[in-house]
Amino acid sequence: MPPDTVGSGAAGSDVAPSDGEPAASPLELLAQISDLDVRLDQITHHVRNLPERETRAGIEAELGMLASEAKVLDTQIADLERRQRRDEDEVARIEAKRAHNSERLYDSHLTSPKEAEALTAEADALGRHQIEIEDQILELMEELEPLSAARADLGRHQSEASERMATVDAAIEAAESAAGSERDEVLDERAALVASADPALVSIYEGRRAAARGTPVLGRLIGLTCSACHLEIPSVEYERITNLDPNELAECPHCGALLVR
Ligand SMILES: [Zn+2]
Repeated sequence: MPPDTVGSGAAGSDVAPSDGEPAASPLELLAQISDLDVRLDQITHHVRNLPERETRAGIEAELGMLASEAKVLDTQIADLERRQRRDEDEVARIEAKRAHNSERLYDSHLTSPKEAEALTAEADALGRHQIEIEDQILELMEELEPLSAARADLGRHQSEASERMATVDAAIEAAESAAGSERDEVLDERAALVASADPALVSIYEGRRAAARGTPVLGRLIGLTCSACHLEIPSVEYERITNLDPNELAECPHCGALLVR
């Protein structure tokens, strides 16, 4: 935004409300208010369309995707870990049973050879079962390994994206804060202009501005051209407008903007 947009209009249009000199014409004051409104719109547009917002949306989508990938992996990992714990508990249970079994087998009070035979057979079966479960645990661990590695990878990716997000958020916050200060300055400047402007004119301007929804409601006559629509005004109409009383309002015949001349 060029800093000279304000007060760069007609020659000798310096606004000096404090010294009370009628330096600027009423319409020229209005044009300066309008210039400030254009700047306010530019500030709003700038803040709304910061390139960082697009970057942020991209990172947000990325984080969303990573989170759903993580959720799938976490579920798979939790399932395998649950199965591993269950198998480990089973091994512990078998080991306890085997210990109890051998205690009984070597118990001196054990008299029946049939009972000893049964205990030995049971000990063998328990041993085989334990090996099966332990193999199962090894398989589960092998299955878990790449999933855990992928999850760790994903976690690094997530923190890296979160860091990028924090940087972008800080940039957006800084831009918003700078825009806020600039907006406050312009609003102060605008309030000073409005205070020294003709209230009736300001009210007409505000009414037109509210109805125009962003299109210019005020144009400067630069030569024969209206600065609002950049079209040339027919010379007869131009003659009429320039001969009007300075306080009388005139509209551009093309776009209807109030003409400052
Ligand atoms: Zn026009």
